[in-house]
Amino acid sequence: RYLAGLNQKIDDHEKVTIQGELGTGIFVNAASVIMRLGVATTILVGASLILSGQIDFMLLFLFLLVITRVYAPFDQSLALIAELFVSQVSADRMNEIYNTPTAEGVERFQPKGHDIVFDHVGFAYDKKKVLDGVNFTAREGEVTALVGPSGSGKSTCARLAARLWDVTEGTIRVGGLDISTVDPEALLTDYSMVFQDVVLFDDTVMENIRLGKRGATDEEVRAAAEAANCGEFIRRLPQGYDTPIGENGAKLSGGERQRISIARALLKNAPIVLLDEATASLDVENETKVQGALSRLLAGKTVLVIAHRMRTVAGADHIVVLENGHVAEQGTPAELMERGGLYRRMVELQSESARWKLNGTEA
Ligand code: ADP
Repeated sequence: RYLAGLNQKIDDHEKVTIQGELGTGIFVNAASVIMRLGVATTILVGASLILSGQIDFMLLFLFLLVITRVYAPFDQSLALIAELFVSQVSADRMNEIYNTPTAEGVERFQPKGHDIVFDHVGFAYDKKKVLDGVNFTAREGEVTALVGPSGSGKSTCARLAARLWDVTEGTIRVGGLDISTVDPEALLTDYSMVFQDVVLFDDTVMENIRLGKRGATDEEVRAAAEAANCGEFIRRLPQGYDTPIGENGAKLSGGERQRISIARALLKNAPIVLLDEATASLDVENETKVQGALSRLLAGKTVLVIAHRMRTVAGADHIVVLENGHVAEQGTPAELMERGGLYRRMVELQSESARWKLNGTEA
């Protein structure tokens, strides 16, 4: 899938380059042809003038000498113009980078508590608005679950909560502070993120977990790994904690990778946890282990989870149901079941498909 995207980009680039080359090529060559035509015209006209006896050969020769002298620099400047076109494109790109505003803010981040408040939040990636008038509060010590159909804006909400982008409308406050006024690095010291695409480095298991907290001791790393249920699989690796794990953890299973990222988060022990549940790569045994590790990580924190599992959703303190970038409904699981809206329909659909699967295995 990623390779397909890359191929597409390479094709696009090829097209743009060919178009650019053609454009400047045609212009430069046309100009130089016109200049050559000038020389040819001089010869033709000169020759006919000599024939009619109006000028002599020496005069024509002088003319030709002069115009070839005059044209030489023109030819050179044409080549330079072609280069200028190319540099203009590069300069435009550099300007675009320089003109992109960097996220800035005060370096001190001392919020009062860690409630996350979305206050009439609107957001658009380019022109397309993907969130509109989103209001909800994720309280400290509670699990707030974001649910809704794919593309409804769950991940966007999670990214905005960590100021990976700035909101287009409204504000997001953490502990009463508008996060768009806080330096992103200072802000993120209070966040742990356990997302689907865990980034692992081609280093040892130990160093990969230590990323959670700069300067953590080996003991601290081991304690976090044990708490995240990593200990058992790490001991099975050939060199234990000192085993290199390959490019992006190629030698580990999905569940193991996820537990490493949970170990990182445990080590960091930040008051806010953003979590994107990924179930696809987990078998039942792994899922139980990840679940155990998570409950240790989440205790007492402000937890915002993009929920895929009904079990997580049903155990959440507060549920925000998103639909097309709007909050369709929110409340406790019991309240939403009572209400009989989108949430209830989703629960019923899920349990139906679960029953269907059960029947399938029995048959
Ligand atoms: P969900 O997590 O509920 O599946 P997302 O927040 O990922 O939804 O996406 C919401 C909408 O924003 C979708 O229409 C998606 O196509 C669009 N979107 C998501 N990420 C980007 C991006 N980086 N650039 C442009 N559009 C995006």
